[in-house]
Amino acid sequence: MTARTRDWQAADASHFLHPFTDHQALASKGVRVITRGEGLYVWDSEDQRLFDAMSGLWCVNVGYGQAALIDAAMQQMRTLPYYNSFFQTTTPAAIALAERLAALTPAQFRHVFFSGSGSEANDTNIRLVRRYWDLMGQPERKVIISRLNSYHGSTLAAASLGGMAAMHTQGGLPIPGIVHIDQPHYWAHRDGAAKGLSREEFGVIAAGWLEEKILALGPEKVAAFIGEPVQGAGGVVVPPSSYWPEIQRICDRHGILLISDEVICGFGRTGQWWGCETFGTTPDLMTFAKGVTSGYVPLGGVMVGERVARVLIERGGEFEHGFTYSGHPVACAVGLANLELIEQQGLVQRVREDTGPYLAEQLALLLDHPIVGEVQSCGLMAAIQLSREPHAREAFAAELRVGLVCRRHCFDNGLVMRAVGDRMIIAPPLVITRAQIDEMFALIRGALDRTFAEAHAAGWLAGATG
Ligand SMILES: *Cc1c(COP(=O)(O)O)cnc(C)c1O
Repeated sequence: MTARTRDWQAADASHFLHPFTDHQALASKGVRVITRGEGLYVWDSEDQRLFDAMSGLWCVNVGYGQAALIDAAMQQMRTLPYYNSFFQTTTPAAIALAERLAALTPAQFRHVFFSGSGSEANDTNIRLVRRYWDLMGQPERKVIISRLNSYHGSTLAAASLGGMAAMHTQGGLPIPGIVHIDQPHYWAHRDGAAKGLSREEFGVIAAGWLEEKILALGPEKVAAFIGEPVQGAGGVVVPPSSYWPEIQRICDRHGILLISDEVICGFGRTGQWWGCETFGTTPDLMTFAKGVTSGYVPLGGVMVGERVARVLIERGGEFEHGFTYSGHPVACAVGLANLELIEQQGLVQRVREDTGPYLAEQLALLLDHPIVGEVQSCGLMAAIQLSREPHAREAFAAELRVGLVCRRHCFDNGLVMRAVGDRMIIAPPLVITRAQIDEMFALIRGALDRTFAEAHAAGWLAGATG
């Protein structure tokens, strides 16, 4: 290891508190320093090349080093690096992106509220939902229903909306007014609610949990339901196709607002511009972030449907909410360049008709691997469930942390693949080609082979005698 890497690791350990990290463990191991990126690859400070099958954190959808985005940022910085959108002012970049987003989103969306991140956007959703019901003369409608194991961000309110048990435990969360139902996770429920059911039958049952919760709370108390079309951080949990239409019917029946958190699914990830288009819902509010700028600069926001926007605009007076960086001109200029690039290259159509189906084909071939229990994909996001005995679909003991073993083999062999428990997940940049998908699966198979060999040697597999 070079002296430069060692110096960086020491300084990092001394001064940098990382998000979602066990600091003591990281300091003893030494952090990996990523120094540059190009296309689908990043390089670390030891000059090891990594195939980034996670698009950074689900965001670098156009890949690294796109000149159009870099130029847009530089030009906007020179012209006007910052101005706010408070106090009756705006900037051309923010106007242009608002107009573009209104055109690219489903017909019910004509307005956007900008934030700096997905978490802030989901905080904004809570503010909007409560304001809406107050203005509608139903202030008792306060409760927002979300799902266990969902991820909606990390501020107090967004972490409360999310259903991550580990986050709730440390934060004294959720805050009041947010409740959770179980997730439509066929594999996780295979010995319970999904036992003996087809995926589609299970989807209807899982959606029914929303109605049970609404009736238990009293429909007149429920303000909104929020969900990711496909749960991302929860492990790329692709719901049965019966699930979302049923959720929509339940929300409509009880007059409840539907919020689609499109921070991962938006901007083409599922093969349509928006996950709600893939799964057949008509949300009232839609959260976006990450892919809007391909992660080059921070930006987020909420698409506000006409049902809510009209009430807010016509009856609301001043909406007492906003961020210093709402509509940041550099972020908006990069967002605009990013959307232009996605359109020019036809990336959404390519995911839907070419790379998404091809990835699904290659993924299905992994089912013959002795350590794979199930695979799931939607567009260019996919999950590989590790299992100690594939045909019986038996899980590894959690304390073995097999997912982390697999992740280590990935890193050691030049691949970034994420572990959520024993579920390995990928979400490669949307610019990926068929040849690069082949390259990615060769790396994945190599990592699975090594994980299998290690599990076999350790006696972790079903039928092993020790
Ligand atoms: C990442 C993410 C968020 C939070 O976005 P930040 O920009 O990290 O605040 C919210 N919702 C979903 C679905 C996400 O994946």
